[in-house]
Amino acid sequence: MNGLFIPFHFTPGAKGIYLRALTGADELSVGTINTASVLSLLRLLSQNGNNGEEIDTGSIVTADRDRVIAQLYRSLYGAKIASTLECDGCGQKFDFDFSLDDLLAHFHPGQVLIPDDGMYEPEPGIRFRLPTGEDELAVQGLDGAIAENMLLERCLAVGEPETNGKNIQLKMAELAPVLSQEIQAVCPECNRVQQVLFDMQSFFMLRLTGERRNLLEEVHLIASHYHWSHREILELPRSERKSYAALITGN
Ligand SMILES: [Zn+2]
Repeated sequence: MNGLFIPFHFTPGAKGIYLRALTGADELSVGTINTASVLSLLRLLSQNGNNGEEIDTGSIVTADRDRVIAQLYRSLYGAKIASTLECDGCGQKFDFDFSLDDLLAHFHPGQVLIPDDGMYEPEPGIRFRLPTGEDELAVQGLDGAIAENMLLERCLAVGEPETNGKNIQLKMAELAPVLSQEIQAVCPECNRVQQVLFDMQSFFMLRLTGERRNLLEEVHLIASHYHWSHREILELPRSERKSYAALITGN
């Protein structure tokens, strides 16, 4: 991956975000898979890009951030999302995959103009802005229903989360679908159809943090062979690091 520019569809005040190539140092900086970690990773990757404009990654609308992560995933791993599931009918394990491109096309945002103040009014009596990473961080650790309510309260200018919460959430999801969705999987053994929750952000972060051992092996291999410093190797773009490691092992 070289740099990527990913346009925003919902975030007011910015056209999109430029991410530079991922390095080993960036990969090592990711400790946990939560939203705070994602925001720090995006902050690192977007520094000094974006025509010198600093993007506050916490203010990116969640639905946009999901698309940023999807494009980052795609640039590193390709468009196929694969996983092994256990059937809740017969208990057999089976492989399940789908195309990220299909998912992105399915949830492609329509031509919605972003209001300057970020406030949407889908029907009389409801006026809101879309949730961002900052909102997620503010309700992190709270109980499910309490967190949902507080998140709505933060985003609502007009409307009642207590009486109208479900409808408002629906309007938000219609306008700006996040890439956290129930997807149907069919067991090839017993044909049972089951719902699987796919969440773009956690899927990406689990994959990235799951590679820690490979990263260390690549660093070890390159250091042993070329005698470059730890820091120099960690500053290589990921694709170059992988190419050098492959050259050394002859793969
Ligand atoms: Zn089955």
